[in-house]
Amino acid sequence: MGKTGYFSHQDCWLHEMGPGHPECPGRLDAIEDRLLVTGVADALERCEAPQASLADIELAHNRLHIAAMRGLTDWLREEVEAGGPPYTQVDPDTSMNLHTWNAALRAAGAAMAATDAVLAGELENAFCAVRPPGHHATRDKAMGFCFFNNVAVAAKYALQRHNLNRVAVVDFDVHHGNGTEDILAGDERALMVSFFQHPFYPYSGADNPAPNMCNVPLPAGSGGEEFRDAVMGAWLPRLEEFKPQLIFISAGFDAHYEDDMGSMKLFEKDYAWATEQLKVVAAKYAEKRIVSMLEGGYVLSALARSVGAHLRSLADL
Ligand SMILES: [Zn+2]
Repeated sequence: MGKTGYFSHQDCWLHEMGPGHPECPGRLDAIEDRLLVTGVADALERCEAPQASLADIELAHNRLHIAAMRGLTDWLREEVEAGGPPYTQVDPDTSMNLHTWNAALRAAGAAMAATDAVLAGELENAFCAVRPPGHHATRDKAMGFCFFNNVAVAAKYALQRHNLNRVAVVDFDVHHGNGTEDILAGDERALMVSFFQHPFYPYSGADNPAPNMCNVPLPAGSGGEEFRDAVMGAWLPRLEEFKPQLIFISAGFDAHYEDDMGSMKLFEKDYAWATEQLKVVAAKYAEKRIVSMLEGGYVLSALARSVGAHLRSLADL
């Protein structure tokens, strides 16, 4: 049995966007509780997420965006010290507090450390229980609860720093990963396959902007059957053809039936099944290497059960 890493960091709990915001620190608590009570945690190798270097973040983001995030943090600190509110808004759904910057560096750092570990053979695969999530962050913009695009940074890192030739990003969040697409479209060393509810936030993905994108938009109300058709009819043939040396997963669990952020009808067993399919591809071409990043998933019990099912599959439990 190969080892499965579980990357996180305390800083990821400190970022929060205001009372009642669905992308809340309690998501990580719900996941950890579930893994503890089910014994899944015992099978995982716990790893502390390091801070990403800005040079590595620049693999996927322009310097102006990074400087803007840092500048907002410095501005907010002065405001808070002067008695101002603890948050600053970066888009209608997304705000920063004084811990957001560090949490975002840990989230991207987790993705790259997990990449290092699986490529070194220290781990077979890894899951990064981190927040903020990343797949909506474009090269030059924070949006949709995302600041830096963790999975895209790590994909570029695997290509540039580890000299891989082919990495795949699989995105099963209910929302289209517009940021990942923005960063990876046209880079033939990367293949992105995704499914998502459409039309729905962020209202992109209906077309493929480049040959290395494989978007499968599905109407609201789609469930396990439609998902399996997308995976078997679209994703797996593209992945087989591409032969990825490493598979990243943008693992959002907001397509779950109980998650009212979206209107899809997936269950834990669908996430487990998809993970098994990806493991088969990884075993064939990628020496089993998978790095999975937490994205969405907002109804805590459904999120925790779904991550549990995903991790059971990754860890061969
Ligand atoms: Zn989502």
